[in-house]
Order: sequence, then C-alpha cells, then structure tokens
Amino acid sequence: YLAKEHRTGVEFYVADKDRNSPERLSLLGDLRLAIESGDLDLHYQPKVRLSDGTVEGVEALLRWWHPLRGPVSPVEFIPLAEQSYLMREITQYVIKKALAQAGRWWEAGIGVPISVNVSARDLLDSNLPEQLEAGLKEFGLPVDAIRLEITERVLMTDQAYIADTIKTLADMGVHLSLDDFGTGYSSLVRLQRLPVSEVKIDASFVRRLAESADDEQIVRSIVDLVGSLGLRAVAEGVESLEIATILREMGCPAGQGRWLAKPMSATETAVWLRSRLSPAFVARAVDQVRL
Ligand code: C2E
Ligand code: MG
Ligand code: MG
Ligand code: MG
Repeated sequence: YLAKEHRTGVEFYVADKDRNSPERLSLLGDLRLAIESGDLDLHYQPKVRLSDGTVEGVEALLRWWHPLRGPVSPVEFIPLAEQSYLMREITQYVIKKALAQAGRWWEAGIGVPISVNVSARDLLDSNLPEQLEAGLKEFGLPVDAIRLEITERVLMTDQAYIADTIKTLADMGVHLSLDDFGTGYSSLVRLQRLPVSEVKIDASFVRRLAESADDEQIVRSIVDLVGSLGLRAVAEGVESLEIATILREMGCPAGQGRWLAKPMSATETAVWLRSRLSPAFVARAVDQVRL
C-alpha cells in the first residue's frame, strides 16, 4: 500500500468495498470522533442567477480534515455514514451549524437561504421537521433560511415514511430541491407530484455541455421540462464561461459551480456575500444585462 503511494505520488484514500472491512470500520469510528470533537466543517457554495449574477442562496457542503489522512471527501464518507446511525447525527450536526450560521448572516444583513443535503435515512427519521422548526425558532429565522436537498435516487425508493416526512416539511413551508437530477429515473408524473420547488441538474451532464451534443440535448430537455412544470432549474458543475453562456442561452435560470464561485469557508463566504449583495454590484450587474 505504501509502496504504491510512493510510485504514484497520489494519496487519495479509498475505503475498501467490503462494508465490514477494518478500514471502513476504523474510518467510521474516526468519523464519530470527528462529530464529537467538532472536526467537521461546513463550506458554502453560492448558487447564482445566470442572467445577472445575483446570489440566490448557498449550499452547505461538509468538509472533514482527518488528523492522519488529511481531507476525506464527502463522496467517500457520506455513503459510509448512510449505512449506520451516524448519518442522523451528521445531519443533526449540519442543520445545527447551518442554522447558527444563518442566524449570524441574517443578523448581519447578508442572509440568504442555506441549502442542506439530507439523505434517505434522515427522511425516515421523522423528527427532522421538529428539529428544523425548533432551530428556526431558536435563532428567530424565517422558514426560508434553510432549504433541503434530496437526491433523486432517494425518492425512487418510494417509501411511505419518506413521502410523509416530505409532505410535513412542505406543509411547514420548507423549500425542497431535487438534487442530482438525471442520475435516477424519475417519471414526469413523479416529478409533478413532488412538493419540490427546484431541480438541480447533475454536474455529469452540465460539465460536458460544450463538447457533447448529447449532453447538451439532455440538459436542454431538462431545463424545458422543469420550467414547464413551473419549477426552477439549477445547473450544477458550471466550470467555465462557455458552459455558463450556453446555459444562459438555453434559458436555465440558475447555476452553481467552480467558475461562478467555489465552495468557501464561512468567513470567505461572508466576504463574498457582502460584495455581491452591495448596491453597487447589483447596479453593475443590471447594467451589464441591459448592454
Ligand atoms: P451535491 O449535493 O451534488 O453537491 C455538489 C458537489 O459538486 C459538491 O461536491 C461540490 O463541491 C461540487 N462542485 C462544486 N463546483 C463544481 C464544479 O464546477 N464542477 C463539478 N463537477 N463539481 C463541483 P462535494 O462537496 O465533494 O460533495 C459531494 C456530495 O456529497 C454532495 O453532492 C452531497 O451529495 C454529499 N454531501 C456533501 N455534504 C453533505 C452533507 O452535509 N450531508 C449529506 N447528506 N450529504 C452531503
Ligand atoms: Mg446538493
Ligand atoms: Mg447535486
Ligand atoms: Mg452530486
């Protein structure tokens, strides 16, 4: 293992596929410690209106700096956590942190909706709506301070409990987004029945928009479909000006991605929000659109 690392010089940590392997169990144990000691951090990635660059909100993304392994990607540890009770603890932790952050930003006049990712397990745990309600109250926040992102694949499991929780959240006025759209196989009927207000088009299609005619056609169809259902389309993976321009011409209302703004620490995000929400910036953006 060490020898291989030396040869490639690459150090990506990949947990063993076997779910009971010592590697995975030890990573899971470390994750529990990280939650207890507050070593999990939230970064925030802005979501931007493509017509004029106005910020519409930010997405909270977990960051874990492992004391020995260095940064471990959520792509690695979230699926691991999802197979255990730890997922519920992580989501509670993320919601608590996001609410506290929202409380500070709203007070400072730079409040925008913060989107939090939730998994199937969180929706099976019926106390999510209560936790959210109590937290909003505690920080004196409007219901739109926190939004929830649910992946398309979760909804395909079609469990009654999940549907109930989603309905409760929607009745509370919580905005829901369908995340990673295009990676599952939602039917049009399903999409229309869900109480979601936003659909996030998966980065895997958006990234290749400029090179692949197939991907361009897929994204265009999704944008049209989502719009015709009266929902808001958000493109993930906006990595270049070229992609942003194509999306804008397609009529995709909003985007997220490295070219628009990277995920940033809370402090960096506050600076970014302050500059974006300033009257001067907004006036400039409006002028650009007029030109
Ligand atoms: P996601 O919800 O679809 O989040 C978007 C991912 O796209 C993030 O990856 C973000 O860093 C990445 N991204 C940003 N800009 C670009 C770009 O220009 N191109 C491309 N290709 N990707 C871009 P990240 O932070 O590694 O998170 C990966 C996934 O892990 C998330 O996908 C989400 O499903 C999950 N995740 C992250 N934080 C949480 C959390 O707090 N709770 C749960 N349940 N899942 C989380
Ligand atoms: Mg998401
Ligand atoms: Mg996504
Ligand atoms: Mg994704």
